[in-house]
Amino acid sequence: MSALRPRRVGRGVRPGWEPPRAIGSRSLLDAARSYGAQGWPVLPVAGVSSAGECGCGPSCQSPGKHPLSRHGVQEATTDPVLIEEWWRRSPGANVGIATGAASGLIVIDLDRAKGGVESLQTLVAAGHQLAPTLTSHTGGRGLHLFYAQPSGVAIADAVGRLPGLAQALPGIDLRGDGGYVVAPPSIHASGRRYRWDRRWIADLPSWMLPRPMVPTRAATFSLTGGASAYGAGALSRELEAVRGLAVGQRSDGLHRAAFCLGRLVGGGELAEALVCETLLCAALAVGLGELEATVTIWSGLRAGMAVPRRAREGNSGWQPLQKPRRR
Ligand SMILES: [Zn+2]
Repeated sequence: MSALRPRRVGRGVRPGWEPPRAIGSRSLLDAARSYGAQGWPVLPVAGVSSAGECGCGPSCQSPGKHPLSRHGVQEATTDPVLIEEWWRRSPGANVGIATGAASGLIVIDLDRAKGGVESLQTLVAAGHQLAPTLTSHTGGRGLHLFYAQPSGVAIADAVGRLPGLAQALPGIDLRGDGGYVVAPPSIHASGRRYRWDRRWIADLPSWMLPRPMVPTRAATFSLTGGASAYGAGALSRELEAVRGLAVGQRSDGLHRAAFCLGRLVGGGELAEALVCETLLCAALAVGLGELEATVTIWSGLRAGMAVPRRAREGNSGWQPLQKPRRR
């Protein structure tokens, strides 16, 4: 994590974080410099004239949105010398910010013209909240919602859908690893400037975090809800252990339980979805935050599934496992 990354305060919201100084600036170079200093790699993007025409010509298919650098977002940088050089060469270039692991920013791109608002209403009706967070009004009819990417979790670009959900969401895209967004004070093809709203960055909602695949053997479990007798015994003991965790041991204890149960998921004794759901309930019950708990469970499960374990013939008892090393 970069030292310049927004400071984490409480659960997700970072009220202590100061937005880049150029947040209200109208200078494209100042903004690019400021984002770079914040640890957000930037790239020059085609500028737009006051008449709304792209710098590359009137027949452009993506006015004011395509990279000017030859290798696009791969060239995005925080280097102040290079940033200065780019905007000296193209003073009217819009500013792109690289998303995903490059900056630690995941951006939800909501396009009203393509049904983004209706898709958002569908999400909220299904109980999937999007916490208020740093937002860029695009100057068109769009919104970019900036969320903090949890460390160690890869989030890829998605079009018309969001990770963690199967349903189509027209008008909602996700910019993650390998992506970028055009940022304030860039000029939109509408002739209006992108502008910032809100001064904090919330964590990416936990329901969007990728989940490990459910093992195919889970399909053969029906009456036991996704567990063999051996797996069910282990699950019940580990849940009891998590519910008894004291403050200061909760995160490590949860990781250990997820690791142990992940081994049995790998061995086909437990369904991954059952372990995720029940462990998350137990973790929330002892006061862990949902995001931290979800990431911890995910990490423990993944590590455990890599070293599968099955019940031995004639062995119906659950043996506690050695404490794994935390990854
Ligand atoms: Zn163009």
